[in-house]
Amino acid sequence: MRSGFGCESCGSPGVRLPADLTDEAMIQCDRCGCTLMAWGAFKRRVEAQEAADARKPAERPAGAAVLRVAG
Ligand SMILES: [Zn+2]
Repeated sequence: MRSGFGCESCGSPGVRLPADLTDEAMIQCDRCGCTLMAWGAFKRRVEAQEAADARKPAERPAGAAVLRVAG
């Protein structure tokens, strides 16, 4: 799964999840260990990215149809 997320300090996409997954629990970078953001905020960020990715395939058939007509 591509989250589109990267640590601001080291660029690592890996995160260390808190044992207690509450929206207020803080997650840490898996590489450098810095505190990144609250789990709730991270979840919303991932969900927003997935929603954006889900919209993309719908745009392709229209573009492909135009290419087919032109070709
Ligand atoms: Zn990091």
